[in-house]
Amino acid sequence: MHSCPDKLGGGCLCGAVRFETTKKPFKVCYCHCKSCRKASAAPAMVILLFEKDGVRFTKGAPKRYESSPGVFRGHCTVCGTPLSWEGTWHEKSIIEVYAGTLDNPETCVPDRHAFIEEKIPWFDVADDLPRYHGTSPER
Ligand SMILES: [Zn+2]
Ligand SMILES: [Zn+2]
Repeated sequence: MHSCPDKLGGGCLCGAVRFETTKKPFKVCYCHCKSCRKASAAPAMVILLFEKDGVRFTKGAPKRYESSPGVFRGHCTVCGTPLSWEGTWHEKSIIEVYAGTLDNPETCVPDRHAFIEEKIPWFDVADDLPRYHGTSPER
């Protein structure tokens, strides 16, 4: 289990959508996949992965877009901030939120890189974290 706090608060840029986490994420990783890059307009995202009941929206709700079959990416309809990813992963329902939307992102440190093979070549990573092709192993 990750060393993040049990409870984290976050939300979109304009404040129309707010969430809180109710347990620790089971993984915190950089994702370099093309889909995350497009969805965020950033070179990479830092993702917190939770079991389905690990995140609850406390104000507003993200608009959900089916980005591939069975996968729903959520964003704020007012300001456009990407907020969530919901789908099935290793046969369990999960929800992801992004470190960039946390009120205190410094408390949740990434522990790996996923989809390293899709990384933009000019985006250098100089840390010693493990790098994985595709989704990284479960723990
Ligand atoms: Zn917003
Ligand atoms: Zn991704």
